[in-house]
Amino acid sequence: MTAKVTFDQERCKGCELCTAVCPKHIVVIDQDTINSKGYHPATVSDMSQCIACASCARMCPDSVITVEKE
Ligand code: SF4
Ligand code: SF4
Repeated sequence: MTAKVTFDQERCKGCELCTAVCPKHIVVIDQDTINSKGYHPATVSDMSQCIACASCARMCPDSVITVEKE
């Protein structure tokens, strides 16, 4: 199984709720990116570590995150 996590980065407000719940600690705030709202959006640092648990997606109050299993 490979997992793919995508972020609608333009809608992310950088609240960091998703970064706290990842059991693999791979959801991080992308300090090198700023979206049009002025926030650093969340991203995944190492997709190969993802177990597709979808905890991050469930936690996000703005439905920014999509988790797919392939
Ligand atoms: S799906 Fe689970 S393991 Fe993958 S990034 Fe989200 S919280 Fe982490
Ligand atoms: S919980 Fe949602 S809005 Fe908050 S940082 Fe994560 S992706 Fe962005």
